[in-house]
Amino acid sequence: MTVKTRFAPSPTGYLHIGGARTALYSWLYARKKGGVFALRVEDTDLERSTEESVQAILEGMEWLGLNYDEGPIFQTHRFDRYAEVIQQLMDEGNAYHCYCSRDELDEMREQQRANKQKPRYDGRCRGRTEVPEGVDPVIRFKNPLEGDVVIKDVVKGDIVINNRELDDLIIARSDGTPTYNLTVVVDDIDMGMTHVIRGDDHINNTPRQINIMQALGAEIPAFAHVPMILGDDGKRLSKRHGAVGVMQYRDEGYLPEALLNYLIRLGWSHGDQEVFSREEMLEFFELEDIHGAASAFNTEKLNWMNQQYLKSLPGDVIAGHLQWHLENQSLDISNGPAINDVIDAQRDRAKGLVDLVGTSRYFYEDFESYDEKAMGKQFKPGVDAILQALHDKFEALADWNPEVIQQAINATCDDLELKLGKVGPPLRLAVAGTPMSPGLDITLNLVGKERTLQRLAKAIETIKAIA
Ligand code: GLU
Repeated sequence: MTVKTRFAPSPTGYLHIGGARTALYSWLYARKKGGVFALRVEDTDLERSTEESVQAILEGMEWLGLNYDEGPIFQTHRFDRYAEVIQQLMDEGNAYHCYCSRDELDEMREQQRANKQKPRYDGRCRGRTEVPEGVDPVIRFKNPLEGDVVIKDVVKGDIVINNRELDDLIIARSDGTPTYNLTVVVDDIDMGMTHVIRGDDHINNTPRQINIMQALGAEIPAFAHVPMILGDDGKRLSKRHGAVGVMQYRDEGYLPEALLNYLIRLGWSHGDQEVFSREEMLEFFELEDIHGAASAFNTEKLNWMNQQYLKSLPGDVIAGHLQWHLENQSLDISNGPAINDVIDAQRDRAKGLVDLVGTSRYFYEDFESYDEKAMGKQFKPGVDAILQALHDKFEALADWNPEVIQQAINATCDDLELKLGKVGPPLRLAVAGTPMSPGLDITLNLVGKERTLQRLAKAIETIKAIA
């Protein structure tokens, strides 16, 4: 059996964190089994679906690297096929026209409530013989009246629902358009899905879908209903918790590798391991190990994960992700050190990619002002002489590399009989404009000799002007 899974978002908003996790699990499972992963856009709700959402979903999938073998398949392109299956269900006696008016249905439900019964459609049109005039009927599926439906759920175990709990679902509206449960069933059958992995907010639909599948003589796929993601306050994750489209995570400086690793762990585990390479994800991921209970989103842990990946990913991969941020923050890196060298110097300290670009500007551009607090502390009368001594030592160097830079700094300390603690901080502020930078030898090496000398000269003037 070739495993086939799908991700089936409705394009009514961004690709959010819960959707991304479902997509990841479906993708992983197909890839792990050497199967097929399909993307299906469930866009039949014409009022709520937008082209913008479709684009956001495609962009999110691409950014996360969740590539698909089939699709995107748009449900709106398949209306003819749905009509065909609805007709088949009618022809085979598994569906019927329902002429009940809204008033009739309201009255029926009210009575059921009054009798302390669960409101449900009572199937009164199943045997209707006379057809009221001028009413466009809906079509309902004839749900079995007896017996149980069993959902064989890989995550939650077997779930048994008695058919008396279900009623006859509308599968076509009065204008003939198919409803959600019908389209999902037709697609999952036609596309040959072996595993349906989706959010457990769909679990109430599943027994109805299984019944329709059975009526169509189709094989029932395995189901894995993935619990919801909660905010750290235990409530369902929403915008309030910062639950936004995945592209916003890019904008905020997260690496897709880190987000994926965070998401796989949010609802699945393999011992105590937190960081998984893609190979390890593929090796260890099993649907059975998806947690049965909801998990809470934790931004701190995501930040931690991002830092792990900043430290460990190959420089070229980080450089690739950095491109967007360089453009977004308008940092031109054509005049300065190789970006991979800057990444290596900064990766252990950076909070994320936004921070990495923000704190690397001085490698490429001169700055207009100094960190104010540091300036008050470091640029005191007399410090200009220290910076002048450093300037002269650097100027005389034939080579420019971290080793000779460090030697020159040490020699200056010796000459002036000062500790490094007196010389280093004003030097750093003069060259980087901030009191935070990698080691001075590395920083100065990357800034370059010419720029270092210019910046020292400028700092000397600045100090003289203060005095
Ligand atoms: N379109 C549904 C949603 O976005 C998913 C349906 C499914 O996976 O079966 O929630």
